[in-house]
Amino acid sequence: MSDCVFCKIVAGENPSAKVYEDEVCVAFKDLEPKAPVHLLVIPKVHIQSVDAVTPENSGVVGHIFEVIPKIMAEQGAKTGYRVITNIGPDAGQTVPHLHFHVLAGQEMGWTPA
Ligand code: AMP
Ligand code: ZN
Repeated sequence: MSDCVFCKIVAGENPSAKVYEDEVCVAFKDLEPKAPVHLLVIPKVHIQSVDAVTPENSGVVGHIFEVIPKIMAEQGAKTGYRVITNIGPDAGQTVPHLHFHVLAGQEMGWTPA
């Protein structure tokens, strides 16, 4: 997707503070962190959101969930972390490229809706 801000990060056309990259996914720091550690983990392939996950592309989601614990161990998140994904306007999705927010570094409240 040529006009997708996260595809441009994957392609190296937009800057990002990457903390992890492999052949399937990239993790980088959120521009507006909501916790001491706030990463976004995204597939390199453009998938709009969880709504667009299919049997053909769901492997990248499984891969991302294998990688997140390794990244968070490196980030020193010994006492837990939170993974969030927003889907569509009611959930406040602002970037239409599947991304998992990963938050850590503090005790968190729970007011998700
Ligand atoms: P969402 O509202 O769930 O779609 O989350 C989008 C997230 O992307 C927000 O937390 C933004 O701060 C973050 N964001 C948008 N553009 C960038 C960027 N170029 N680099 C890092 N984070 C970004
Ligand atoms: Zn994209």
